[in-house]
Amino acid sequence: MENAVHASDAGGRVANRPVPTTPGISLPLALVLGRLLRPQRHLYALAVWLEATPWAYRAFTAVEKAVKGKLFGCRMCAQCALPSTAYACPMSCPKELRNGPCGGVAANGDCEVYPGLRCVWLVAYERAAAAGRTADLRRLQRPIDQREWGLSSWVNYWQNRDAGLWNGDTSFAPAPPIEPR
Ligand code: SF4
Repeated sequence: MENAVHASDAGGRVANRPVPTTPGISLPLALVLGRLLRPQRHLYALAVWLEATPWAYRAFTAVEKAVKGKLFGCRMCAQCALPSTAYACPMSCPKELRNGPCGGVAANGDCEVYPGLRCVWLVAYERAAAAGRTADLRRLQRPIDQREWGLSSWVNYWQNRDAGLWNGDTSFAPAPPIEPR
C-alpha cells in the first residue's frame, strides 16, 4: 500500500524498543473486544476510507497506537498476532520472536534480556492455559512484512490482509524429538 504515513513512521521501530509486556486486560475481555472488532462490512468501508484520507489515517493510527500500546505494549508492527497469542504481544519480546520463547528464559520465567520481567511467551501460555485455549499457540506464525511498521493493524485486519499471517491448523502434531547421536 502506498501511503504518506508509511515512510514517515519507518524509524519508529528503532525508537520504540521492545520490552516484555503483560497485557493490561484479561483474555476473556480481550476476546470479547476481538469479536466486536472482527472484520465486518462497515469496518471494511471505514478502512478503505481511512487509507484514502491521509489525515484521518494518521489520526486513527495515533489512537490505535495509544490504545494498543497501553493495553498490550503494541509497537505497531501492523500485522497483529494477538488473536493467536492469548493477546500477549510477541513483538514486545526483545527478540521479537513470534513462534515461542528463546532458550534463555530464566528458571523463574524471567526474560533473559530484562531480568525481573516475565517472558512474553510464558505470559501467553499461562493466559491461554487458564482459558483452555493453548491450541491457539500452536499456530505457525509466518514472517511479517517489515515494510509495514507504523501502519494500522486494524486497517489491515479489516481488509483481510492478515489472512496469511499464521497457518489455520490448530491441531498439527508437535515436531518429532531430536534423535541422540
Ligand atoms: S500490531 Fe504487532 S506490535 Fe501491535 S499488538 Fe499486534 S503483534 Fe503486537
